Amino acid sequence: MSTAGAQPKPTGELRRGGLAAIHTVIITPGWSGGIGSKFDPKQFVRLCQDAGVEVVEFYSKNALGHAMFPFRGRPCPCDWVSETRRLAADARLPFIIYYNIGLDNWIAERHPEWACVDAGGKPRYFADTFNWICIRSPWRDMVLDELRQIQQAVQPDGFWFDLTGAPNSYGGSLNPDLACYCRYCRAAFRDRYGRDLTAAPADPKQRLQVYELAESARLAMLADAMAQCRAANPEVGLSYNHAGDFWEQMVEDEAFPKVRRQVTLGSLEAKAHEAISLRAKLLWNQRKPYQLHSYGAFQRMQPGSASGTWVDWNLIPSTYLATSAAITTAHAGRFTVGVNLVPDGTLYASEFENIRRTFQPVREREAWLAGLESVPNIGIIYDPRAELAGRRATPAAGMIAETTGLHNALHDSGLHFDVVRPGEFRPSDYRALLVGEAVYLRPGLEGELRAFVQAGGLLIVTGETSLRDEAGVRRKDFAWGDLLGVRFAGESPFREANYGWVHAELREAMLDYPILFTCPVFEIECTAARPLAELGYPEAHRTATTFLWETKYNQFKSSTGKPLVTVNPIGRGQVVYIAAPIGEQIASRADVWLKRLLVNAIRKYATGLVPDMIVPAGVQVVYGRRPGAHVLSLVNLYAGADPAPGRPVPRVGPVQARIAMASLGAAPVSVEGMDISGLKWQVRAETLEISAESIGLHGVVVIRQERK
Ligand SMILES: [Zn+2]
Repeated sequence: MSTAGAQPKPTGELRRGGLAAIHTVIITPGWSGGIGSKFDPKQFVRLCQDAGVEVVEFYSKNALGHAMFPFRGRPCPCDWVSETRRLAADARLPFIIYYNIGLDNWIAERHPEWACVDAGGKPRYFADTFNWICIRSPWRDMVLDELRQIQQAVQPDGFWFDLTGAPNSYGGSLNPDLACYCRYCRAAFRDRYGRDLTAAPADPKQRLQVYELAESARLAMLADAMAQCRAANPEVGLSYNHAGDFWEQMVEDEAFPKVRRQVTLGSLEAKAHEAISLRAKLLWNQRKPYQLHSYGAFQRMQPGSASGTWVDWNLIPSTYLATSAAITTAHAGRFTVGVNLVPDGTLYASEFENIRRTFQPVREREAWLAGLESVPNIGIIYDPRAELAGRRATPAAGMIAETTGLHNALHDSGLHFDVVRPGEFRPSDYRALLVGEAVYLRPGLEGELRAFVQAGGLLIVTGETSLRDEAGVRRKDFAWGDLLGVRFAGESPFREANYGWVHAELREAMLDYPILFTCPVFEIECTAARPLAELGYPEAHRTATTFLWETKYNQFKSSTGKPLVTVNPIGRGQVVYIAAPIGEQIASRADVWLKRLLVNAIRKYATGLVPDMIVPAGVQVVYGRRPGAHVLSLVNLYAGADPAPGRPVPRVGPVQARIAMASLGAAPVSVEGMDISGLKWQVRAETLEISAESIGLHGVVVIRQERK
């Protein structure tokens, strides 16, 4: 081992965190020649430095079970780690060890009895390639032992654990067909529930138990691995794939608080720009530093959406990655790009040049962006317990699709907003709150939201919210009926499509033409609310004889006179209810009229929004604060829509912002811009007015204030 002698001192920098990081992916199939033979740690660290990389996540053991570090008893054709770690420490480059906990083909060959198996005893694979190994088997102790070995030898600044989970808990699936049925899991199930684990149980309670059992194994593994690493180094940074994800707190587990306490960095993965924004907002509001992983190569490139795998040998151009980085860092997150090394370790300077071009704008801005917290304004409420109730009702349901669509509607509308979870935000800090398809919400929340509305807030509620119990069973009426001012009356007889006629009050830039839902909607009756849009039916069901060419539904005829969108004034505020899964429709069809309806409702009924912005379409607004300053990010999404290598990013504008002085807390002493032309500002009538001619890729406005 090459680390004998001076041990690099852990820097603990994972916690403070730069915003520009790379994540190496090193997959080393046996058929590939000269594994690691061309890898040059010195060149690697130099390329990282030249590219402006601030943190390196580095593979130590991949899904094949091949080691990049000489773990005892495991073959290691090449030690990629030790020298790289030493040189990274010399370069003051924080070095995070990647370790794959869940997948290990090498172990599966030697200990088939440790592998995860289906109910028929067949091994379980990830991506049809890698064996899941059960963390209830003795594999668990081997994981802890290998982590101990590498920590003692190389003293990394942090660890990042991948693929931790029983197969069904990794991703939060309630489908018992995905569970592990090995001897260890069967015994654990019997111990915990006093009966046998049966294949694909029909009993809903047992389906939930199968998930709870898996989730408890995942969290206990993480809690123990992190406690061990922390005991050896109190400063060590700790994170894992899916830290802070939507599904993570669906069930209560005794190990979760331990995991939450230990983890220093939230971590999710996203590549499409809207998906990056959604996950950045989800993690930003968990009040911990976080990173978003995004691979550096693609198979398919669509506007704003690169897709592929972590190992595609086809670089995503820096214009696209720079947009991804701008969205992430505008939300104060670390952007971590995948670097997929070829198995022999040859380093390609151009891959790092691509990263340099991606990180340069980050490095120029991060002094202002790192550590920002969001200024509360509009919040989309996401609740993992409602997610669970929704999935218990219908396995494919839940809140994620609806939340995604609500996010996408607001994403490029010039509105600054958060994604928040009950118990982690104060409604009174917000001007507008949205909650969609939350079939069950804990009883206390309704009272909090009523007080929020009474004091002048806008609440927008969609679909089946409050219409089921905790177990996912449909109620006779909304639990929130009083708040919504409507009564549940049933479902539209049309499942293939329904229409909405929006009243002039809410139409604004929309045309006097129906809006379309290609899904079932609810029928409701107003009790206290008044209608803002009416439900329209298609003229006929689509049948073998009543149809139009290839359209899957038929044309609208006239309004039913029944309400589809309503508004209920309570105190000084309003509750808008939309009797359809409008978010899911936006997420699946990107319907611009439905987006517009939501944005119109916010602009019409919310008061005191900060900042009040006028920006061109395609500009995302993110507003944060830190002691002594407010920081406004304007992200130009056009660069990711057509990421043409070597061609200039179109500048867009003009932009205008109005910020109430009262919301700033202290008077501005200066307003400065980065990547902004023609910036002007003035204070007039208790409002800070900012205008600019245009922005480039990522305009940043820094409002410096008097320190109190
Ligand atoms: Zn098992």
